[in-house]
Amino acid sequence: MAQTPEKPIGMTAKPTRPQEFYDNIKRKFAEERDLRLNYRPEGTAQFTSDLTGELSQYEVDPYGGELKPRAPINDTVEVLFIGGGFSALLTSARLRERGVESIRIVERGADVGGTWYWNRYPGVACDVVAYDYLPLLDELDYVPKDHYAKGPEIFAHCQAIARKYNLYELATFQTTVTSTVWDSAEQMWNLTTDRGDKMKARFVICANGTLSKPKLAKIKGLETFRGHSFHTSRWDYGYTKPDLSGLDGRVVGIIGTGATAVQAIPGLGAAARELYVFQRTPSSIDVRDDWPTDPNWARRLPSGWQARRRARARMQPQMTEEQRTRQAAMSPEEKVRRQENANIEAMMKIHQRIDAIVKDKATADALKPWYMLLCKRPCFHNDYLPTFNRPNVHLVDTKGKGITEITEKGPVFEGKQYELDVLIYATGFEVQKTGIYNQIKGEDGLEINDKYRDGIRTLLGIHSQGYPNLFIMGGYQASFQFNLTDMLQAQGDHIAACIDYARRHGFQSIDVTREAEEFWVQEVIKHRGKTGRNQECTPGYYNFEGEFQRRQDGNYNGGFFQYCSHLGEVQARMAEHFTFTGK
Ligand code: NDP
Repeated sequence: MAQTPEKPIGMTAKPTRPQEFYDNIKRKFAEERDLRLNYRPEGTAQFTSDLTGELSQYEVDPYGGELKPRAPINDTVEVLFIGGGFSALLTSARLRERGVESIRIVERGADVGGTWYWNRYPGVACDVVAYDYLPLLDELDYVPKDHYAKGPEIFAHCQAIARKYNLYELATFQTTVTSTVWDSAEQMWNLTTDRGDKMKARFVICANGTLSKPKLAKIKGLETFRGHSFHTSRWDYGYTKPDLSGLDGRVVGIIGTGATAVQAIPGLGAAARELYVFQRTPSSIDVRDDWPTDPNWARRLPSGWQARRRARARMQPQMTEEQRTRQAAMSPEEKVRRQENANIEAMMKIHQRIDAIVKDKATADALKPWYMLLCKRPCFHNDYLPTFNRPNVHLVDTKGKGITEITEKGPVFEGKQYELDVLIYATGFEVQKTGIYNQIKGEDGLEINDKYRDGIRTLLGIHSQGYPNLFIMGGYQASFQFNLTDMLQAQGDHIAACIDYARRHGFQSIDVTREAEEFWVQEVIKHRGKTGRNQECTPGYYNFEGEFQRRQDGNYNGGFFQYCSHLGEVQARMAEHFTFTGK
């Protein structure tokens, strides 16, 4: 789900206003950031994703039905995926193409789909163009229905991929991996699960997503609320009804105004008697330029059309001769200044759009974000802002403070009690740094969290020395791509190539060398050094709520083209980057 828009902000446009204008706005950005940092000095510790005990109701799967009884599994597969979302589906397709037959997906939900299994809240959709976001369109001979796909279509596409590549046969659903331990003697991974399984696998792929564990803000009295409540990724349609008619006559509250809330709020505003939106920091809301797919365009698409779109995404961005000359003549300080000014101009357009749509001036002002665009996940919606013109919709702007108290009746802010029938938490997800949830113990029994205690260490975000035959997808030290499935596809192709290489050469294990890993850690550090943006941004999950991070604990910022080039180099010279055993 961690996506940002397709259009990066242009850098070299000449500033149109006096520099003082931009400097004043930058000062205001810094003040707003400091205000929030002071309210939440505990950083990520302000949240919990330990949804056990009194909080266990917030993690129950409302979609999977009763736990289907089954005997514990005690067998061996060649490739095992922890998680059944796009990472697993994409990589499995490539493995099947290379003749790998024994593939198992172990998934907590009751079906494949990952994010799109869990997130079924009203209005759920993806902001990346569907012809790019939905993977394997050539292979499935499918063209998405609209320019932007809605959640149910994406979920159905995941199921279609699983059927096409025969992934349901060995899949185990409603199952959570509890430990993943390398057996050096057998050159195998041993996995246990919460269903009593003892599985063995030659290769394990951590495909459990970066934003997969729902989190709640640790709000005083949260568990005392007597009304109905749930997290957006566990939407209770039993209560709301699929058409939200269950909210008719109800007073509803929603905490959070991130990308999820922005999509859910228009439907809630139309269905509830009263809707209270508890905002801490506003999102930027731009136009959503959507349209149904033109059937004539779809019919004329030549075979392999999506592969060509993907290939274009991997190409190095080209500059004109004039742009190159202009850039070369500019000092690094001037480049940064122009980029910041352009960013501020983009944010001012977001502000103007709010003023043009939201009628009440105080509400319009409260909805204005004061930070550089891309400090937080930008949002795109045509109905979100107009929803605040409805007489039954009330914005409770906590001005950076957030809700800090909930009673049995509902949230309290500045002494005012908001009495609710339903309280919905749109408070997001814990950020998984890189394959760290499943008690992964490599050679010498070292738990991967312990290895990472002094900083993440990987090659390409995928391989970590001492964890042979383990591949991590979508984690840190990998590139960041606006279209996440471009990234996952690149990683999936690479992982399939590594496994194929080991199989073809009769190797039982493949492990990255210390040198290759160290090279990559330094690459990540080198490219992270380019930017102070994380420190200057308002807190949020993008910058770990403003907590200090080691420079290696983040994405590789050298660009997707460079990242793909590195993947290619590693594949071309396997013997230099890996050690192999078992020939
Ligand atoms: P986020 O983490 O983005 O948002 C959580 C929200 O909860 C923020 O607005 C946060 O405020 C607010 N919050 C937290 N604590 C409190 C509190 N005590 N009081 C009031 N508000 C509080 O989670 P989302 O589920 O919205 O989105 C997660 C990610 O999933 C997105 O960034 C995106 O990558 C992806 N996504 C993509 C979609 C798409 O393609 N359109 C749709 C939905 C999600 P604050 O900002 O101040 O921290």
